[in-house]
Parts: sequence; structure tokens; C-alpha cells
Amino acid sequence: AVVGTSGIRSVSSAATRTLDALEKLKKGSLYKEAGIIGGEEVTLSKTFEVLDPATLQPVAQVPDLGLPELDRAISAASTAFSSFSTTTTAFERAAMLNRWHALVMANQDELAALITLENGKPLAEAKGEVAYAASFMSWFAGEAPRAYGDVLVPSVAGHRAITIKQPVGVVGILTPWNFPAAMITRKTAAAVAAGCSVVIKPDAETPLTAIALAKLALEAGIPPGVINVVPTKSALAEVGRTLCEDVRLRKLSFTGSTAVGQLLMAQSASSLKKLSFELGGNAPFIVFEDVDIDAAVAAAVLCKFRGSGQTCVCANRMYVHASVYDEFVQKLTEVVKGFKLGSGFDAQTTHGPLIHARAIEKVERHVADAVAKGARVEVGGERASAEVGPHFYAPTIVSGATSEMAVAREETFGPLAAVFKFETEEEVVRQANESDVGLASYVFTKNIARVMRVAEKLEYGMVGVNTGIISDCAAPFGGVKFSGFGREGSKYGLDEYLTVKAVTIGGG
Ligand code: NAD
Repeated sequence: AVVGTSGIRSVSSAATRTLDALEKLKKGSLYKEAGIIGGEEVTLSKTFEVLDPATLQPVAQVPDLGLPELDRAISAASTAFSSFSTTTTAFERAAMLNRWHALVMANQDELAALITLENGKPLAEAKGEVAYAASFMSWFAGEAPRAYGDVLVPSVAGHRAITIKQPVGVVGILTPWNFPAAMITRKTAAAVAAGCSVVIKPDAETPLTAIALAKLALEAGIPPGVINVVPTKSALAEVGRTLCEDVRLRKLSFTGSTAVGQLLMAQSASSLKKLSFELGGNAPFIVFEDVDIDAAVAAAVLCKFRGSGQTCVCANRMYVHASVYDEFVQKLTEVVKGFKLGSGFDAQTTHGPLIHARAIEKVERHVADAVAKGARVEVGGERASAEVGPHFYAPTIVSGATSEMAVAREETFGPLAAVFKFETEEEVVRQANESDVGLASYVFTKNIARVMRVAEKLEYGMVGVNTGIISDCAAPFGGVKFSGFGREGSKYGLDEYLTVKAVTIGGG
């Protein structure tokens, strides 16, 4: 039995909910089993299955596109780029992005249902993702006309010089399954604002949302060929390699694991394209003794267990000061015991499944390793019972975690919170930085001097202070060290899709 996870409803009722949702989606206009190339829907007799991870029911047969279709997509994107980048003004692109935003929000429920269908997250969370995904459209609509250059002061007498910013070219986009909408728009909205065209290879677990977003982009008046979607499963390695090597693409933006990021970087060496990589994290969540513990617990719950722990910014290591350690662990455990696992289509569900069997195996390995090295399971610690569904792991808290454990060094990417005890600021900052990745980090304290001291010392791209939620279209998202490079969202996000050109005028 699952320790402390109540409200479990049977897998058969989950299956019925999935079928009901699917039937409704099929009556709408956004459920499409097709690639999008040059504005056209592309199908093939060869398909791959998309599964509902909550029940493992097949929910779509999507064309398994390969290198010939990828080549057509790159050609379509190249043709579109030559006109889109030169004949549209930034204001016109902003208007397109604003219309896309309006259409996405008008279809929020349908898009959220698609996300829940293929990713499994609860519907309310999926709706939140749609709004977050759309926020990048309005943000970059605002940024599009702000691609300012500079007037320079040359060292040569009689020279005048300026810089202009221009779109980098056709962009390859590789996105993961954990945010089927937001990972697409965080990249694509910036690219469109800059005047680029894109070829998107969505994750094979979650292609339906990407296809729906591309359909809405066409409806919003973004010209055919500017946004192409090439779903593939069997040709993943070849498609990935071509996106790296093909010189018609001048940029690649990838979100996913560090290992795949390293492979893509090596494969991109021959084409020397511009790269943005948002890779894995292993976020420390530091709770000092001077905070409101209830607020810190509430933030920890959101930060750790959103998406069932499958987010790259979710807390992986919770460092809690010794004087408040027991209280924090006890209160966190109480909240987690109230979670309800199940189908994302069930309004009572608070937490959905993990995406695939490998994800569950990794959580199991981390829990077993922690227990073998002396950690104590406060709640969870095993797969959820078969009645919940095949891909569920019970939300788990282990106390007494130490730096020798695998969970300290590797990102779990699942619903395991490991709680470490610390005594001093110096010690906890050192431990927090003992990680080869550096994406998100979190600090809870009321001491303003300590906020600045610790924020400066943490080797991370992002620091949340007294909050577990840091993702915001207005703030730069990205990492350091093995978490990659490049920033998404914010004023910096546009620069990733622009090149700076110096224009020097002589003879004056
Ligand atoms: P994975 O490494 O198997 O895949 C990650 C992504 O890379 C997927 O989208 C996949 O389609 C793509 N990919 C894999 N091989 C490729 C290739 N040869 N060419 C091009 N693309 C390729 O990881 P996974 O098992 O799906 O997820 C687990 C790990 O991935 C997590 O532990 C986490 O570190 C990382 N991850 C990170 C994020 C993030 O938001 N940063 C999202 C999802 C996964």
C-alpha cells in the first residue's frame, strides 16, 4: 500500500476519463495527428503511438517523420525566412504574436486537455502552463520593436559607426515533454519576434500540443513556413544530427538532459551554429532558521512536487537549518500525505504520473541508495499501488540525507524530496555549490544582508528568495556550468535570436 497517499481512484475510472477527454478533443479543431510543414498538414502511413502516461492507453497515432520531411521543413523555413525577416516590421510581428496569444488563451481549456492527455499533469496545472506559455507571446510582442542597436564613438577620425541587430536565421528547436506548450513558446515566440523561422522537433511523448500551437500560429497570421513541426520517433538520432549539421540552420535551441546537450554541441561543431542549451538542474532549497516555516513548507511543496517533480527547476536537495529541521520535515510530511494521485482529468487529483518507466526507475534507484546509506523514509518510498496506474511513484520524503547519496549529486526528476541538515551559512553554501550543474536555487531567510551574500555566492543561473516559483516571462531563465548557456524570456531572450552587425561609415 502507498503510505499516506489517500484518495486513490481506480485505473479503470482514469481510463474512462481519458476516453471522454479524447472524444471531446477529437470534436474540436486542435487535436491533429500531423506534422506541419510550410503551413500544410503532413501525414505518413508510418506513425508512432502517443500514450496517456496515467493509463498507458494510446491516444494518438502521429506521423513518424524522417529525413525527407525534415529536409522539406528546413527548405520551407528557409524560404519563409527570406521574406519574413525582410518584409515584416517588428510591429507587424508583434501584432501576430499578440493575435497568437489571444487565440491560445481563447483555447486554453482545449490546449490544457491536450497537455494532460499526453503529459499527465493535472488539468489545473496544465491550464496554468498554457497561460505561462502564452505569456511569452505577449512578452516578446513587446520586445520585438526594442531590438535596439547603438550609435558608437569610433577611434578613427571621420568615421561614424552604428550597430544593428538582425535575425540570426532559421532555427532548430528541440523541446522536452515536461512542459509540452511552454518549452515551445519560450523559444518560438522569441524567434518570431526577432524575424526568424523555426523547425521544431517536439518530444515524441508530447507532440500533440506542439502541433496545436503551430495550427493556432497559422490562424494568427504567422506566415506558412515560419513555424514548422516535425514529429519523429524512429528517426530521432538522425533528425537531431541533421538539425545540428545542416548549415541552412544558423541556430539550435535545446531543452533537455545534459548528456543530450553535450551530444548536440559536438554534432554542431561542423556547422558552428549559435547554440542555446537549457539542461538539467539539481536545485538546492536552503531554509535558514529565521523564516516562517509554514511559508517555507508551502513553497517547498510547490517547488518540489509540481509536475510530480519533473521540472528542471524543482528543488532536489532541501537544506534545512538544524534548529528548525524536525519541524520542517514534520510539516512537509503532513502536506505530502494529503496528495491525491491519479488521472489529471480527475478534479480531485493533485499529482499525476511520471512520464515513462525510466523516470520511475530513477526515483527507485535514488530512494534505495538513500535508504542504504542511512536516510529515513518519512512518507512514500515505493511505487504507488497498481490501482492508481502503472506510472505512478508515491510522493516521497527522505530525512537524514547526506552528500554521499546519489540524490545529492544527480537530479532525480521525480517526486522525491531529500532533506539535509545544516548548521552554518558557510557550510550550506559550500554544499549547495557541490554540484556540476547550476540552474535554479532557492534561499529562505529574512536577513537581507544574508540574502545578498548567499545569492552572490550561489553558482546558479537563478536564485529564488523566499519563493519556490521563479519562472516568469520577464526574468531571464537559464543556467551555468553543466546546466548549459543562453537565456530565455526577458530582454535577454530576444538576443539569442539576433546577431549584432557593426556598420562603419568612412569618408566623413
Ligand atoms: P533524454 O536525455 O532521453 O531526453 C531529453 C530530450 O532530448 C528529449 O526531448 C529527447 O527527445 C531529446 N533527445 C534525445 N536524444 C536525442 C538526439 N540524439 N538528438 C536530438 N534530441 C535528442 O531524457 P529523458 O529521459 O526524457 O528525461 C530525463 C532527464 O532529462 C532528466 O533527468 C532531466 O535532466 C532531463 N530533462 C530536462 C528537462 C528540462 O526542462 N531541462 C526536461 C526534460 C528532461
